[in-house]
Amino acid sequence: MSAQPQTFVIVGAGLAAAKAAETLREEGFDGRLILIGDEPERPYERPPLSKDYLRGETTDKPYVHAESFYSDHEIELLLSTRVTAIDPGPRKLLLEGDRRLGYDRLLLTTGAAPRRLDVAGSELDGIHYLRTVADSGRIGERIERGQRLVVVGSGWIGAEIAASARQKGCEVTMIEMASLPLERVLGPEVGRVYLDIHRDHGVEFLSETTVERFEGEGSVERVLTRDGASLDAEFVVVGIGVAPRTALAETAGLRIDDGILVDQRLESSLPGIFAAGDVANAQHPFYDRRLRVEHWANALNQGPVAARAMLGQAVAYEEIPYFFSDQYEVGMEYGGFATSWDEVVFRGEVAGREFIAFWLEHGRVVAGMNVNVWDVNEAIRELIRSRQPVDARRLANPDSALENLVGQRQ
Ligand SMILES: Cc1cc2nc3c(=O)[nH]c(=O)nc-3n(C[C@H](O)[C@H](O)[C@H](O)COP(=O)(O)OP(=O)(O)OC[C@H]3O[C@@H](n4cnc5c(N)ncnc54)[C@H](O)[C@@H]3O)c2cc1C
Repeated sequence: MSAQPQTFVIVGAGLAAAKAAETLREEGFDGRLILIGDEPERPYERPPLSKDYLRGETTDKPYVHAESFYSDHEIELLLSTRVTAIDPGPRKLLLEGDRRLGYDRLLLTTGAAPRRLDVAGSELDGIHYLRTVADSGRIGERIERGQRLVVVGSGWIGAEIAASARQKGCEVTMIEMASLPLERVLGPEVGRVYLDIHRDHGVEFLSETTVERFEGEGSVERVLTRDGASLDAEFVVVGIGVAPRTALAETAGLRIDDGILVDQRLESSLPGIFAAGDVANAQHPFYDRRLRVEHWANALNQGPVAARAMLGQAVAYEEIPYFFSDQYEVGMEYGGFATSWDEVVFRGEVAGREFIAFWLEHGRVVAGMNVNVWDVNEAIRELIRSRQPVDARRLANPDSALENLVGQRQ
C-alpha cells in the first residue's frame, strides 16, 4: 500500500458490504473506509424478513453489526444516500444531491431488486413486494390482521411468505406459472413435497397460471388469473424473482451480463472496481463458468473475499453454493448447483419430512438438500466437491455415513 492514505468505498450497505468492511479492518486496512447505502438502515440481514420478523415474533431488526461497530472501526456510514454515477477515469463517485467522492478502490454490493408485475391494476394499493425491512413491516401488519392474501409466485420468497401468513391465520392462495412450487430449482420430485407441505397447511395452490389483472376501488380486491379464476384478496404479495441492480455499474461502463461480470477474485472488467453478493456474476473455479447466486451465504462469504482482493491478496471465491429456507415446521439446507440431473435419490422419511434429497448426474452428486436433518450439509458439499461417482443404494441408506461414500460406486 502506498504511503498516502487510501480511500476504499463500498456502495450498497447490505450483508456483503458489512462483511467486506469488517474484513478490511481485520486485515489491517487503515485508510479511509466509506460505506454508502440508499436505505435508512445500517446493514441488516434479509432472511428473517420473510420469517420470524415478518410474523412479528421479534421486533429486533436483524442488523449485521451493533451501531457502535462502525464508529469503533472508523467506518464512515452514509445512509439514505444513493450513488448515481461512477466516473472511473478520475475515480470519482457522484452522489445524490450532486456530491462527489473520490475512491482508490471501489466495491459494488448493490444487491438485487424484486421484478415487478406489469399488468392492469398493478398500481392499486395493497399490492406488495418484499425486499426491505420496511416492506416486511408493511406486509407484517396485514398478516397480523389475518387478511385474505394472494401470493403471486412460489419461489423461496413466495413460499416463505405463504407459510408465515398461514401461521398467522391468513387465508392464502398461491399462483404459480409452473406446475409445482420451487420447481425451477428443485425439480418435480422435490417440488411435489413442497406442494404437499403447503396444502397440508391449508394453502390453495393454483398452478400453470398467472395474473391477468388486479381489480379494486383504489385498493386491490380481486386477482383475475389468465385461466379465468377470480380470487378475492385483501392484499397481494408478488414474489416473481429479483434482478441484479446493475444501473450504477453501467455508468462506469463495466461489463454486465445478468449481473456485474467479475473474475474469481471478484474484480470487474475495470481494475480497482470489485463486486460481491447478489449483484455479482462471478467466475467460479469449481464450475468453470460464471455464477450469480442470490443467497445469504454468498453475500456473507463473498464480501470478505472481495475485501482481500481489494487489498491485493491472491484470493479466489470457490464456495459451493449454499442456502436455507424455513417454512412452517420444515427447515432445509441446500448445497450445490444443479441445472440438469438424471436421478434424484432420497434418504430418510419423505412422508415424515425428515430426509435428504440428492440430485445426481452421471452417478455424481451435483446437489443435495437436507430437510429437518441437520449437520450434514458440509458432508453433502464434500461429496459434490469430490466429483466422484457414488453408489445410489448406499446414498439412500441412512446407515451409511456420507463421509464414506466417495468413490464407492459398484
Ligand atoms: C425476504 C427475503 C428473505 C430471504 N431469505 C433467505 C434465506 O432464507 N436464505 C438465503 O440463503 N437467502 C435468503 N435471502 C437472500 C439474501 O438475503 C440475499 O442474497 C442477500 O441479502 C444479498 O446481500 P447483498 O449484500 O448482496 O445485497 P442486498 O442485501 O440487496 O443489499 C444491497 C443494498 O444496496 C443498496 N443499493 C443498491 N443500489 C444502490 C446505490 N446506487 N446507491 C446506494 N445504495 C444502493 C440497496 O438498497 C441495498 O440496501 C432472502 C432475501 C429476502 C429479500
